[in-house]
Amino acid sequence: MTPMKSDRTLMKQSNQQLVLQLIQGRGPISRKEIAQLTGLSPAAVSGITAELIERGLVQEVGEAETEGRAGRRAVLLQLNARAGYVVGVKFSIRAIDAVLTDLDANVLYAVSLPFAFAERARQSAANTVPDEVVAVTVQTIERLLAEAAIDPAKLVGIGVAINGIVDAEAGISRFAPHFGWRDAPLAAPLAARFNIPVYLENDARALAIAEQWFGVGRDIDTFLVVAVGYGIGGGFVVNGKLHRGALGGAGEFGHLPLLPGGPICSCGKPGCLEALAAEPAIIRQAQALVQSGAGGMLGQLPALTPEQIAQAAASGDETARRVLSEAGAWLGIGLAGLVNVLNPKLIVITGEAVHWGHWYFAEMEAQLRARAFDGLADVVQIVHEPGGNDLWARGAACVVLGELFGATPRTEAEAIRISFPLA
Ligand SMILES: [Zn+2]
Repeated sequence: MTPMKSDRTLMKQSNQQLVLQLIQGRGPISRKEIAQLTGLSPAAVSGITAELIERGLVQEVGEAETEGRAGRRAVLLQLNARAGYVVGVKFSIRAIDAVLTDLDANVLYAVSLPFAFAERARQSAANTVPDEVVAVTVQTIERLLAEAAIDPAKLVGIGVAINGIVDAEAGISRFAPHFGWRDAPLAAPLAARFNIPVYLENDARALAIAEQWFGVGRDIDTFLVVAVGYGIGGGFVVNGKLHRGALGGAGEFGHLPLLPGGPICSCGKPGCLEALAAEPAIIRQAQALVQSGAGGMLGQLPALTPEQIAQAAASGDETARRVLSEAGAWLGIGLAGLVNVLNPKLIVITGEAVHWGHWYFAEMEAQLRARAFDGLADVVQIVHEPGGNDLWARGAACVVLGELFGATPRTEAEAIRISFPLA
């Protein structure tokens, strides 16, 4: 391929994505508006939309209220959400969850297979677990596709979300501290099995992509998604772009070093935010109090989980309140640091922690507001996004949709590969 031809291919590709992105985000929309918003000529818009309609990605849906040229009402265009389907897979600590979504990120089917990641990791040497993981992931996706009974030709891609450092370009999990993996190739074997593009992404960044394209981050240039549960992860959209960093490690907010000599974190280092504010930290703290005889109601709980502790706090137990407020305070201190560095307009809090109640979050917010640099916290809106494993798997699906609707291609080969797999 000559350089010129490839330039032209890329330009055509990026114009198509631009138009598709507008129709997805602002549809129903007329061709005239598309031309105005993109700066493309009306003829170019006509050509591109004709192609998108022919491929079934876009459909005409009635006419605008106002009249277009020569007194004719302008025809409106809208994304055909059922033109294709996407699979999203999330490795959580105890299961592999998979969802099937349409092109508008609506979850149509969900399947979950139990898989004890952490226990397996402890039993195996590094890199021996992923083969088994790939096998169970294939099973999960096959079951999902069988239940959904869709035309396999309409499957656009698979997104996989995983904790830790992810080399998205190479499809390799560089380091997954919760699973004990290093340099585990995950995308290639799945792509070979299903014969469609497979994208690997850090799980919190996948949620940020979901918010950016389909959620509360849609019209916000700089926002943070912070996922709190067994660990703490972050996905940061800065000036409209998802921030991956030099090694794909950006967003490892849970490993913000906060307390020298503090408890040892899942990453092996002392005093990380995660070791002070996530689920294991809360449980450890509660257990210590119970053992020392100062556990209050905590000693009588059926299970020492953050949710149970939150219930005890809600019914007035002072010890439960103290455990949750202390953990929440650390999260707030960490967030204040993030606010000072990135100056976001919105922070989306998600993960299991959304069920940890008032005592955790009141102290988080108090510390955030008290410690952020002058005025920066005043513009921050904090939104709680509840959701279980489906939410995470949907995030993984949105990684594929983000590519389809116009994320910047990572390489030229990638640009060609993701150019409308439905064609
Ligand atoms: Zn750490």
